[in-house]
Amino acid sequence: MTGKNGIIVMKFGGTSVGDPEKIARVAGRVIKAKSSGSRVVVVVSAMGDTTDDLIELASKISINPGRREMDMLLSTGEQISIALLAMAISEKGCSSISLTGNQAGIITDEVYSNAKIISINNSRILRELKSGKIVIVAGFQGVNNAGDITTLGRGGSDTTAVALAAVLDAKHCEIYTDVDGVYTADPNIVSEAKKIKGLSYEEMLELASSGAKVLHLRAVEFANKHNVVLHVRSSFNDNEGTWVMDESKIIEKMERPVVTGVTYDTNQVKITVFGLKDIPGIAAKLFGAFAAENINVDLIVQNISEKGVSTISFTIGNEDTAIAKKVLEGLKSRIEFSTADINSAVAKVSIVGAGMQTHAGVASKMFDILSGENINIEMISTSPIRISCVILKEKVKSAVKALHSGFELDREKGL
Ligand code: ADP
Ligand code: ASP
Ligand code: MG
Repeated sequence: MTGKNGIIVMKFGGTSVGDPEKIARVAGRVIKAKSSGSRVVVVVSAMGDTTDDLIELASKISINPGRREMDMLLSTGEQISIALLAMAISEKGCSSISLTGNQAGIITDEVYSNAKIISINNSRILRELKSGKIVIVAGFQGVNNAGDITTLGRGGSDTTAVALAAVLDAKHCEIYTDVDGVYTADPNIVSEAKKIKGLSYEEMLELASSGAKVLHLRAVEFANKHNVVLHVRSSFNDNEGTWVMDESKIIEKMERPVVTGVTYDTNQVKITVFGLKDIPGIAAKLFGAFAAENINVDLIVQNISEKGVSTISFTIGNEDTAIAKKVLEGLKSRIEFSTADINSAVAKVSIVGAGMQTHAGVASKMFDILSGENINIEMISTSPIRISCVILKEKVKSAVKALHSGFELDREKGL
């Protein structure tokens, strides 16, 4: 399935381009798509663990490296893969060209390490496609208005691919990865997990935002906004994967299960601020200070105040811990509180499902299952189609497994 202009966007993740043989295999797959008549744009991630290795390398130089320089460093990972893939395609007798985010016209905002794409000038890509080349674009990177390289956050190559599919009117974006599709739980944790055939954008948004890292959240947001159909599939076989599209287009509409999937996120840190004066404006000042540093706050719990004093707990991503400490220091002169605690021994476990909206008792069943595993719930948050609990990190795998079997996801045949 390609858009009316015949363009298809294919994205290959880190494992899929992990070594020279795999790069050669990707080259073969891409050439096959071109031979069958599509105009092909390929997005690739850095090889294997390159991004992690670069982060580790930087940590040996500095405990808190500047974000601009981190982006300069991390963007090199994808630059290696695009060049190698272009060479591999050429070895097989086809013509292609590799482009960095900048060369591909991807303009982002100024937020280093978590930049948002604000526009894409697709003229270079269209020109190269017109000349018959396969166009290979470095995932995860762009350039800001100052001309500096930015990166889109971990897992951001998916977002590059979907954004390109949107501006090229490809309507269809293939995400090739190391699993066969989106499963009812991380198949590397729950061996009984089942592949899901079709998911609505809403469900995929909740799965991605609650930890199913198989798709980057912003990629799903883009797909939803621009109606780009996603096909998440394995780069190691030809099996049909998972289609993510508008709810109304999902053809096989079996009865929706109450719970579609179980997710977990171990990248969470819980901050508790004690002894806050319970007066109007305190929460605004507290969270305003975190927002000013571009720190995303996830779950928030405020206890009932006693004698005009309250406690607020909230979670942030692990990568923001160092900046969060500085924010809390700075807040001491601006709002009254006694102490703040930062706890990284926590994780979030969630259940997601569109069917939840019409079924009562799902939350209590989730709490029952967790209590059956002797797991204490520290925080709870809900959306119409998701329930999340913050628990001890060491319990997260047993929680995911128990919820998966408790909601009988091992018995579902998939949607
Ligand atoms: P890539 O490098 O191809 O972008 P990622 O590592 O980012 O791949 O994402 C694929 C991984 O996502 C899988 O190996 C799997 O462990 C993990 N994952 C987590 N939750 C799910 C899920 N519900 N379905 C499929 N994969 C999942
Ligand atoms: N290489 C980047 C990362 O490891 C981006 C990506 O793989 O999507 O996060
Ligand atoms: Mg990924």
